[in-house]
Amino acid sequence: MTTAKMDELIRFIPGPSWVHPEVLESQARALIGHREVLIAELQAQCEAGLKAIFQTRQRVLISSSSGSGLMEAAVRNLVTSRCLHLVCGSFSSRWFDIAISCGKKPEALTVDDGYGITSDLLAAHLADHEPYETLFITHNETSTGVVNPLAELCETARASNPDMLICVDTVSSMAGVSIPVDQLEIDFCVTSAQKCFSLPPGLAFASVSLRAFAKATKVVDRGWYFDLINLERYADKGHYPSTPAITLMYALAKQLGRILSEGLSERYKRHRVMADKARDWAETHAALFAQAGFRSDTLTTIETEGKIDFNQLSEFLAQRGFAVAGGYGELKSHTFRVAHMGDIPMDKFDDLLEVMTECVTR
Ligand SMILES: *Cc1c(COP(=O)(O)O)cnc(C)c1O
Repeated sequence: MTTAKMDELIRFIPGPSWVHPEVLESQARALIGHREVLIAELQAQCEAGLKAIFQTRQRVLISSSSGSGLMEAAVRNLVTSRCLHLVCGSFSSRWFDIAISCGKKPEALTVDDGYGITSDLLAAHLADHEPYETLFITHNETSTGVVNPLAELCETARASNPDMLICVDTVSSMAGVSIPVDQLEIDFCVTSAQKCFSLPPGLAFASVSLRAFAKATKVVDRGWYFDLINLERYADKGHYPSTPAITLMYALAKQLGRILSEGLSERYKRHRVMADKARDWAETHAALFAQAGFRSDTLTTIETEGKIDFNQLSEFLAQRGFAVAGGYGELKSHTFRVAHMGDIPMDKFDDLLEVMTECVTR
């Protein structure tokens, strides 16, 4: 296969996801200055759209970084020392590693790959340990295809330790499933542009509660680039401490308009429909890796059970113009992943599943 052809594959991978041509084209505009009134207008427009999707009245910061940057921001700003991480795969494990590398003293409540973290497990852990300053939850674990029961976990956390801040990674779920940030009383909710938002990579967003800002003022060595207090100070004026990715903000404004005109409940329904189709396919031809009751609506991790050779499947799909994602890390040898997030047209998804069937029943 030629490189040119590889460029044109329709990719069902968990980021970067497919971007609508209208959104790509919206970036091809002259740059405005980052201290002008125009940027404040653009920021205000983007923040309003983001607030609708986050279902929040809190500040939503727009960061010129990928999601990992704001994950680090959460650790640097919202923890003095003691925090708890719910770990159920590679991405939740990464947040724990970030906390270590920032000199914090994180503890982990870990379950095996493929399993979700139940509120009973969390309640038992919290009852057994000294209070933590901050809890870190990964909503949708993109390595295993597990979605954790966010509402129950937040409720349990609040009930057992009302002062503990709650930070949630919704990188691969926000804008694909409903996450009512204010109702769940989430203090810091982070996501990235290149997954369910169907935007090019390079921007990340996070809602920040008043409690979180108050906590940050008491934490020292917050660093500079991701200092929430400094970001807030500039955001109040519609500006950023450093030069933001203005071109990507053009795309963001365009795409938020498209997302809200599709309608959020339509969007969530579409993701559920794709998830159902992916699960049906997996159960017919192989198996699902994630435990029942904890399966993601935005990505499906398929256990091959030795029946599907991922390299052969990949090659077959590439010849038909499609790509799916391999297994993540240690799961590579026996799983692969089909992402169904963002704006990818439904008929393309149906085509993908048909070609996958053709490949495995040949
Ligand atoms: C993709 C992903 C990340 C990393 O996000 P970047 O934007 O690549 O930094 C973190 N957490 C989850 C759950 C993800 O899916």
